[in-house]
Amino acid sequence: MTAVASADVVVLGLGIHGMSTVASLARRGARVIGIDRFVAGHSRGSSHGRTRMIRRAYPNPVWNPLVEKAVDAWGELERASGETLLHRTGGLYAHEGSSQLQGPDCVLVEDRAEMAALMPSFAVPDGYRAVYDPSAGVLEAERSLAALRRLAEGAGAELRDGERVLGWDSIADGVEVRTDRGIVRARRLVVAGGAFAARLLPSVADLLEVWRILTVTVRAGQPAGLPPALGAFSVDRPEGLVFGIPDADGNGVKLGVDAGEVWDPETPVAPPTPAEAEALRDLLHAYVPALDTAPVELAACLYTMTEDKRFVIGPLADAPEVIAVSACSGHGFKFGPAIGDAVADLATGIERPDLAFVSTARRGI
Ligand SMILES: Cc1cc2nc3c(=O)[nH]c(=O)nc-3n(C[C@H](O)[C@H](O)[C@H](O)COP(=O)(O)OP(=O)(O)OC[C@H]3O[C@@H](n4cnc5c(N)ncnc54)[C@H](O)[C@@H]3O)c2cc1C
Repeated sequence: MTAVASADVVVLGLGIHGMSTVASLARRGARVIGIDRFVAGHSRGSSHGRTRMIRRAYPNPVWNPLVEKAVDAWGELERASGETLLHRTGGLYAHEGSSQLQGPDCVLVEDRAEMAALMPSFAVPDGYRAVYDPSAGVLEAERSLAALRRLAEGAGAELRDGERVLGWDSIADGVEVRTDRGIVRARRLVVAGGAFAARLLPSVADLLEVWRILTVTVRAGQPAGLPPALGAFSVDRPEGLVFGIPDADGNGVKLGVDAGEVWDPETPVAPPTPAEAEALRDLLHAYVPALDTAPVELAACLYTMTEDKRFVIGPLADAPEVIAVSACSGHGFKFGPAIGDAVADLATGIERPDLAFVSTARRGI
């Protein structure tokens, strides 16, 4: 006998965007079921690992209002959970030639002595300029997902781990979602499937490409890796931007590159090979020379990229009861709680014109 459940909203995917949406809906009193094909803490998607970077420096001012909402939403989540989830460290973003990077209180730094004063451990390459973002910092990624899960369950959400959504059908008053354990009927379905979005949302598939991204994390507690000696940083290079996250709260310095091979998410992402690990260590040594770069963690993760690095959020034109949430391109985590609130608005009939620049409608889907 097939188990049939009902809810106001079903959320597919419990990464940062799905889990934030579930928590926001449940805290508004909605009956919400969140479903994930893997167990909590899995490493098959894009939200695992201890840390992420948050910054206000963005290449286009169109992002500024959403960045502000993101910063506010982290503050609200810290208050609701009683946890410290954001460590402010400042950020220095190095580039050759001119840069579009801008944002509240962000300043261009051309003087090398000033760069060294702002971030003594960061060896900005010769001839590079930099943008300093005083409000950049480190997000506790793992802790944030756990806090959102606690808040969601505390507000009555039903979370189902290890259950796979196989498909759905539009029905008279909503949607019928088929899983490998049964059926859920609801008024709305939110699809926050991360790297698996293309298979789940054929009308979005052409816009998305999945990349394998590698990171190295080194021993915590090294003076050269601690703020204020080191903050969030990046080096813009033709072969791919290098990003660095300082050691906050014992997490160790983490470095990665915003470039990688196209990957099929149905295949578990392969960890860095010894040669790839060596290349990451060389980059870390080049940009933070005082660090012991012996890895304590080598990890792989998935980016879901769009060509213009903008997100795809909103109802589907051919199934308005289904809301797509593909918000990655390597910079989605910081927006998690704010996007969760926005998607909860959309799922409860509240319009969000401020999301027009990342909407499904913008792309005619
Ligand atoms: C190495 C790395 C570094 C990054 N650094 C930063 C950073 O510093 N700052 C920043 O802002 N962002 C950063 N990002 C990006 C950010 O982490 C992602 O944008 C974000 O985590 C995406 O979350 P998500 O919820 O969309 O996807 P995911 O976390 O992947 O969640 C999708 C979920 O959907 C589930 N799912 C898929 N298909 C099904 C199905 N059929 N049935 C049930 N469940 C399903 C999956 O199991 C998964 O748990 C980084 C990403 C990586 C990989």
